[in-house]
Amino acid sequence: MIPAPEIEKILFTEEQIQARIQELGTEISESYAGREIKLISVLKGSIFFLTALTRAISIPVKMDFLAISSFGSSRAAPGVVRISKDLDESIEGEDVLLVEDIIDTGLTVRYLLHTLAGRQPNSIAVCTFLDKTPRRLVQVPVRFRCFEIPDRFVVGFGLDHNQLYRNLPYVAVMKP
Ligand code: 5GP
Repeated sequence: MIPAPEIEKILFTEEQIQARIQELGTEISESYAGREIKLISVLKGSIFFLTALTRAISIPVKMDFLAISSFGSSRAAPGVVRISKDLDESIEGEDVLLVEDIIDTGLTVRYLLHTLAGRQPNSIAVCTFLDKTPRRLVQVPVRFRCFEIPDRFVVGFGLDHNQLYRNLPYVAVMKP
């Protein structure tokens, strides 16, 4: 696919993404062998990763979704998020994998982990498509990750800029 004009460079191609997700699916299936997992995805960005990942997982999976409103860019309340659509089902006693599109400062995941851990799952772990480690403000336990990325704003494969570019099949850095 020809990159959009606003794209500076492609970080990961469709083929690289597919291959890495396949590896990660195998890793997850082996880690939870003999069990069933519930994948919890945060709308909207992570659904592209979620659907690809579930096809690469060979153990039984369930899925549920939540949505958050982030006020992370507000200086008054950095990293404050609110659940705007909650899960449909209880996670009590379940092995939960929180599936994220990108972890940046870590504040969103920390909040979600804290909230979900309070609902008595059997276990809870984090799986992220992209990990922007240079920007981390709080430590969060990332058990599974596809790719580490530098401190640049990226779009594609679910990640947006003003709701656009989610449908790009690759991950790219935007022009400044
Ligand atoms: P946090 O800073 O709490 O770890 O991440 C908050 C959110 O910022 C992410 O879930 C994502 O929506 C957004 N975000 C952070 N970095 C990027 C990026 O490079 N591209 C896009 N599209 N969103 C980002």
